Amino acid sequence: MASLAQILEPPSYGYAAPDGSLIVPTTKQLFKEFFSRINLFKDRKNWLAFYSWFTASLFAIPFFFFVKDFLTWKLFLVGFVYSMIILGTHGTIYYHRYSTHRAYQFSHPFWRFITKNLVIKIIPEELYVVSHHVHHLISEKPGDPYNAHAGWLYCFLADAIHQPIARNLTEQEYHRVSQMINHTGVKLNTYAQYQKWGSICNPYRTIAYFALNWSFWYGTFYLIGGIPLATAIFASAGFWAFGVRTFNFNGHGGGKDKRKDGVDFNRKDLSINQLWPGLVTGEWHNNHHLYPNGARAGFRLHQLDYAWYYIWFLSKIGAVSSYRDYTNDFYEKYFNPYKQNRLMPPDSNSTLAHSN
Ligand SMILES: [Zn+2]
Ligand SMILES: [Zn+2]
Repeated sequence: MASLAQILEPPSYGYAAPDGSLIVPTTKQLFKEFFSRINLFKDRKNWLAFYSWFTASLFAIPFFFFVKDFLTWKLFLVGFVYSMIILGTHGTIYYHRYSTHRAYQFSHPFWRFITKNLVIKIIPEELYVVSHHVHHLISEKPGDPYNAHAGWLYCFLADAIHQPIARNLTEQEYHRVSQMINHTGVKLNTYAQYQKWGSICNPYRTIAYFALNWSFWYGTFYLIGGIPLATAIFASAGFWAFGVRTFNFNGHGGGKDKRKDGVDFNRKDLSINQLWPGLVTGEWHNNHHLYPNGARAGFRLHQLDYAWYYIWFLSKIGAVSSYRDYTNDFYEKYFNPYKQNRLMPPDSNSTLAHSN
């Protein structure tokens, strides 16, 4: 059985040198890899990477018309809130905490359907979920699909060059990998279909699903505010589609140690609690690496976490049947000892920052 680290299709430049050190490809190598991995004519199995960038690029159309014909401060603000807060928080709620980490469970598939389709569809589940498990398993080591040590572009292009699943999985391995998204309701390819398409999801179904979702939301925004509102919001979705690709690099300090004492308690990797992504999406990334399967990442009073408020609200109305909340654990194990330690004379205890 391939290890979890080998379930993604490796790039042609490889991840690690023979001595185990990280291979950092040049910009030229990265672009070459990118264009080869989205090239449909070269290999049908490139379809999902191509699709991911093609659909994201389609948002340029509403963006063009929005800027040309409808740009006002009010609509700009609406788009800003939609892209930063609504799409960002939805990413945390659905792709990150539910689809990947199973931090909470829905009481009925109906609520999963609602949550999944709460916003304009942008990312196919398998591109996000499978690779994100690998990211947690080997954060910042060779094989991490968005290893901050390898640079911004390496992370930005990752969904095409590092995140698609491996193409040489055995039937047993494919079954195991496809189970990673089974709970999201995506219809899984059979092994024979996987051998044809190289993916867990089926291209025709995926296209149909995006088309339905986009039609629904375009129609809804059109009914609410006409073409100006619909183009404003779809234009802003394009911003998020590209903006989200920058998160993983920055969320790990851009490969530099930016962790602060008393803020970033997880010391196993360079992840940091950034104020802006935290405040708008609940993505307090250092807290998240501390408790990956928690339904909540904002533990401190100022650490707003809209994603958690949504999950908490659904649990109150019976739509979420269970969730994991590590807030007490965080205070007991990390924050309170840190505070007590700070009140003590300076040389009495200096080990706390390295307690984990
Ligand atoms: Zn991370
Ligand atoms: Zn995660």
